[in-house]
Amino acid sequence: MTLFTSGVLISDAMADVLKKLPPFCVELTLNSIDREAYERISGVEGSFEKALAGTRRLKEKGIPFKIKTMALPQNYEMLDDIKGFLENLGQKLKLGLPIHARLNGDLTPCHWRLAPEKVLAIEDRLNKGFPKKKIKADFAERLQSIKEQIPNPRLFRCAAGSDTFHIDPYGNMFLCGTVRKPSINLLQGEIMEGRKQFSELVAKEFMTDSICRNCLLWHICRRCPGIASLEKGDAEAPIEYFCQLARAEASNSQKWIQSDQRCERRNDQEL
Ligand code: SF4
Repeated sequence: MTLFTSGVLISDAMADVLKKLPPFCVELTLNSIDREAYERISGVEGSFEKALAGTRRLKEKGIPFKIKTMALPQNYEMLDDIKGFLENLGQKLKLGLPIHARLNGDLTPCHWRLAPEKVLAIEDRLNKGFPKKKIKADFAERLQSIKEQIPNPRLFRCAAGSDTFHIDPYGNMFLCGTVRKPSINLLQGEIMEGRKQFSELVAKEFMTDSICRNCLLWHICRRCPGIASLEKGDAEAPIEYFCQLARAEASNSQKWIQSDQRCERRNDQEL
């Protein structure tokens, strides 16, 4: 089990429980190392010190943890400082992307998405030292394999439901953090019933002729049915921001669909 938290609620007592019953990992979100910026993002006064204290407790007790950072306009200029801070903690800067709408469909967080070129610039910096040739070769290989898989009618193209699922603090089990139906309450129901429902869900295929269905870039696209449901009310709908990001990433790798311009043309026409 991986426990997702801001760290704010990791008190001494909670850290003792985690020490006794250690999860596979605790994944903390730390969006800034500047109190003011952190609390501007979290919207909760006093949360910065509590989050840091929670992180320290995990470290002191030897509980395995990772830290992720959402890349936002509010912390974009500080990412190098955050990286240095994390390296002192023995951690790497790991970006949490993408930002999606709130679970009630409120789109406010989507306004905090970074421009695609900024996202790629950060990832490029983080990949420094990783042989560029290898990145390009990986990309070309993936592109070739994806062309062989088109058309691919599968709606869910991730691993959710096969080896992962999500449980909220109230014991409700979901396919993942963004797909909220179906759900099963583990205080009343059986985990296997949840798994059965999720396998039926992930076996679903596209029912419409959404351009995502045959898109050549789907393997690098970060859109997923959960994000599309929250943002567009339609699990099959494309999202323009993710199209831009996927095209920028493909174009960056200089290996994209020069031989087959279908996705670009269709996106331009139909979005
Ligand atoms: S790049 Fe656009 S069209 Fe292609 S899968 Fe992503 S959202 Fe859909």
